[in-house]
Parts: sequence; C-alpha cells; structure tokens
Amino acid sequence: MAATESTFAPDHVTCHGERFRLYLSREQIQDRVSAIGDRINEQYAGKQPILISVLNGAFMFTADLMRAIEIDCEIDFLKLSSYGAEKVSSGQVHELKKIDANVTNRHVIVVEDIVDTGLSMDFILNRLRQYNPASLEVATLLHKAESTEEDLNLDLRYVGFEIDNLFVIGYGLDYGQLARNLPDIYILDEPAENNR
Ligand code: 5GP
Repeated sequence: MAATESTFAPDHVTCHGERFRLYLSREQIQDRVSAIGDRINEQYAGKQPILISVLNGAFMFTADLMRAIEIDCEIDFLKLSSYGAEKVSSGQVHELKKIDANVTNRHVIVVEDIVDTGLSMDFILNRLRQYNPASLEVATLLHKAESTEEDLNLDLRYVGFEIDNLFVIGYGLDYGQLARNLPDIYILDEPAENNR
C-alpha cells in the first residue's frame, strides 16, 4: 500500500529511535471503521451482539467501531500476552485476562487490532468456542495476510485493511508501549527483508 496523505498527520514519526512512515491516515481508518459498522448493523439486526475486544491494542478500534454500531450491542474484554518490546511475533500466546461475560448462545464478534501469524486469533477463537456461542466472527482492523499461517484456516469476516508484512504502530498499536496514542497508523520505514 502506498504512503498516504493526511491534512493532520506528519509524514514520519520516530519511536524508540526507529523511523516510521505514514501508512494509513485517520481519514482512511474512519472510512473503513464506519463501513464495518454499517455491515454489522445490517448483519446483526435484532441479534444484540457482544463485542470481545482484545486488549491492549484493539481499544481504539473497538471504541470507534462501537460508535459506528447503531444496533444494541454489548462489550467485554480479554487480554493476551503481547510482543513485549519486540517487533516480531513470539508465537507463544497466554491469556492474561479472561472475559467476564457469559457468551453461551450469544452472537460474539472478536475485535482485534491486527492479525499477523494468526496464532493469537486461533487461540482466542478456540477459547471462545468452548462456551458455545450462537455465532462467532472476527473484526480485525489490519491483516498481514502474507504472514498468516494458512493451516489455521482463519475466517476473518470483517477486515479493515490487508497490509504489508512490516511492523506498524499507532491507533492503539504500540512499539514497546509507546505510539498507541497516534491517531494515524505508521509503518516501519525499512525494506521487509530487514524486518522478519
Ligand atoms: P499474531 O498472533 O497474529 O502473530 O499476533 C497478533 C498480535 O501481535 C496483535 O494483537 C498485536 O498485538 C501484535 N502485532 C502483530 N503485528 C503487529 C504490528 O505490526 N505492530 C504491532 N504494534 N503489534 C503487532
């Protein structure tokens, strides 16, 4: 995806000494969030879905998505272990916070910031299936299709953007706990082969 322009966002930012370039502007993000909201409004009419937001990264996407949803809906949170200060997925997933809600017979939408290898999402879906929800779908803002393990056969119903296989920050996504507060998404300003 080519670098984008925005009225408000700087072209580049530096985080922990590394340079990132503007990748998705707040305007592009809001367009996709509202399109996903529209689809959920249509597809879940009368069903009162429960959004399960994956902390920490998905908090900003979840807040915007929930405001784009006009039908009755609920929310709960779960938290998995994160990258820590690394830029590459460890492949190890642990549950740090379980959901509180009872999702048996409920229409569940898992809200995630990014699906990379897909291991975290696979773990979450397997976990939630144990509660026998009435339906279980995924809304992820970003998807690194190139690095998602095909064997997992993940069915990602709502995807904001298919993105390049490079580390991104901003709009909830961190690098060593920084940059979550950026309103736009930035991508590491390096060739892919140096990054993975
Ligand atoms: P997966 O298990 O799919 O490899 O990784 C999912 C999690 O890794 C995401 O929820 C997110 O926390 C983190 N992650 C994956 N790719 C990136 C990235 O490019 N930037 C940031 N900040 N986090 C990422």
